[in-house]
Amino acid sequence: MKDILTAWKWNGSVSEPIPYGEGHINQTYAITVTSVQGAKRYILQKINTNTFKDPAGLMENVCGVTDFLREKAKQRGADPARATLHVVPTKEEKPYYQATDGSCWRIYEFVENTVCLQQVQSAEDFYQSAVAFGNFQHQLAEYPAHTLHETIPHFHDTPKRFADFQRAVAEDRMGRAAQVQREIEFVRAREAEYHVMVDLLAAGKLPLRVTHNDTKLNNILFDKTTGEGLCVIDLDTVMPGLAANDFGDSIRFGANHCAEDEADLSKVNFSMELFEIYTKGFLQAAGEAFTPLEKQTLPWGAKLMTMECGMRFLADYLEGDHYFHINYETQNLNRARTQFKLTADMERNWDAMQKVIEKYC
Ligand code: ADP
Ligand code: MG
Ligand code: MG
Repeated sequence: MKDILTAWKWNGSVSEPIPYGEGHINQTYAITVTSVQGAKRYILQKINTNTFKDPAGLMENVCGVTDFLREKAKQRGADPARATLHVVPTKEEKPYYQATDGSCWRIYEFVENTVCLQQVQSAEDFYQSAVAFGNFQHQLAEYPAHTLHETIPHFHDTPKRFADFQRAVAEDRMGRAAQVQREIEFVRAREAEYHVMVDLLAAGKLPLRVTHNDTKLNNILFDKTTGEGLCVIDLDTVMPGLAANDFGDSIRFGANHCAEDEADLSKVNFSMELFEIYTKGFLQAAGEAFTPLEKQTLPWGAKLMTMECGMRFLADYLEGDHYFHINYETQNLNRARTQFKLTADMERNWDAMQKVIEKYC
């Protein structure tokens, strides 16, 4: 790894990289550069090129968005070095380095005096994550989203996900379809709904936004002193998309108290209380940047992200569990069932969800 570090220009001695953080996608290391001025830390990351096939496009997205966020921070008098990630260019002025073995590496300045929380411990944490991702939307509202690369093509193309699901059912490679007819029917019964958001986008009724697509708590750095959500990190999945999708994915995994693969469905309940908390934070931070229709359709984001996930888990179960890692045989089926239970709960609460949105508009 020492060889890799020579691709950058350092004014000081560079430490051995030490594995850092709890990310699951990239390999992350911390390095320290010591000079007469003192010690300065950096984050070194090996980009996961199995997941991200176009590292050049990906880094173009990262640089575009972080440059934009830095300018926004300057305009509002915030510290630009702490408001977003800062890519350190290589000696050749490139945003990443491709080693002879094909591996791709990048370096960020370390954002000091921050904390990264691994899990939502309280409603307040969930609220703070909503504010941070809402701010991200607000700051990037004027970014030309169509210029971003789709780092994972068709990521939230729900009709395409449904077509993939239908193929998995038709092929029934593991002979499992007969036992899960009820679940298959649940997915098929909602076919018309999978088009709702993509059709509004295609008709020009919803704007294309910069979406983060991995809106977890551990992708926010909080100021150690003030507790304020400072900096949204992990920008690999930044893509053009719908604001409702970022919102919806957060609701999907955050607005319940159960494990994703909970087998006892009586324990799987969509929490209107947590839905309201997230909605409040997200709309307080981003509301003024959104159009009225964009706000009204946020519950669609929640439902469609949940259904999309459910059909992907079920399709993977039917295909023999190649995509989502499993620890036991029916894990993907259990995961699909929790998503369908959450969806059914959302349907029962549909009017109440709309009212919550209106309350914070
Ligand atoms: P992954 O895609 O694998 O989740 P991340 O980009 O989220 O990778 O980085 C993993 C962890 O490294 C983060 O959760 C955070 O704790 C830490 N981290 C990443 N970038 C920085 C940074 N610039 N400053 C401080 N910590 C960082
Ligand atoms: Mg991460
Ligand atoms: Mg990531």
